[in-house]
Amino acid sequence: MIGDVQRLAVLGHPVAHSRSPAMQNAALADLGLEDWEYEAIDVEPAGFDALVRELPGRGFAGVNVTVPHKEAALAIADEASEPARAIGAANTLVFAAGRISAENTDAPGLIDSISPTFPDLAGRRALALGAGGAGRAVVWALAGAGARVMLWNRTHSRAEALAEELGVEVIPPELHGAIDPGAYDVIVNASAAGLHDGDGLAALPLDPAGFRPGQTVVDMVYGKGPGTLIEAARRGGADTVDGLEVLVRQGARSLSIWTGREPDLDVMRTAARG
Ligand code: NAP
Repeated sequence: MIGDVQRLAVLGHPVAHSRSPAMQNAALADLGLEDWEYEAIDVEPAGFDALVRELPGRGFAGVNVTVPHKEAALAIADEASEPARAIGAANTLVFAAGRISAENTDAPGLIDSISPTFPDLAGRRALALGAGGAGRAVVWALAGAGARVMLWNRTHSRAEALAEELGVEVIPPELHGAIDPGAYDVIVNASAAGLHDGDGLAALPLDPAGFRPGQTVVDMVYGKGPGTLIEAARRGGADTVDGLEVLVRQGARSLSIWTGREPDLDVMRTAARG
């Protein structure tokens, strides 16, 4: 331990762009937890396990874990929550009593971000786009909340494999160019479409004119402003949730796990967007 400071961090590679330190430090300060501090640590995959094992001795109470370490974070843990095990990845580690515990707050954080419009997703029609790490957490979360989930992925075989594993339906390949978004209550883009140019819609199989009031559209990808998916959804009258809101919701849950306190979401939002 360094003095009485309780250290936290996000581990990733790269990680310099992360909004988590600003967001978490603002929340900790707002809660009056002045002896807690949160930083970003860049670590390559080859050094991940050794670093995690030395962090408790350096005064760390826990960490967030981001790309590309979420599977390694689950593998190194002594115990894991049910979501972390089912998703096969952890974004939160807790160091206590010489043990490492793994949690996944990405999945419940996504459900939290949809809950203002859909407090109960049971029986709702949901479309998940993407079958990578984020897509896996999204499908598990939506299906676990009782939604009727359809899955699309650019590489169809990957969608089929994930859908079979998690017990959801896939969008048939012949519909790939012409999905009517209005048929869904909730649409979540968990693919990297739009990551580099903000134009997610161009790479997704959705009819841009089909969005409607009464549905919620989530774009996990976040950049400087709303991407074309969020813009089209807003034009159609849909409720929208951007990737920073999802980041805030998972981060709030992680902070609660480490500190036992409930952070002010608006404080986290302001800092994340700063
Ligand atoms: P990943 O495991 O590398 O998977 C990438 C996914 O994106 C795959 O489904 C891939 O499809 C698809 N994809 C990549 N480029 C595409 C394109 N041009 N058009 C359509 N699909 C494309 O990555 P990940 O961890 O799942 O992350 C996906 C995105 O979610 C990233 O942009 C990440 O920043 C974001 N994310 C946000 C949060 C948050 O808190 N807001 C949390 C996690 C992730 P193929 O299978 O065809 O390659």
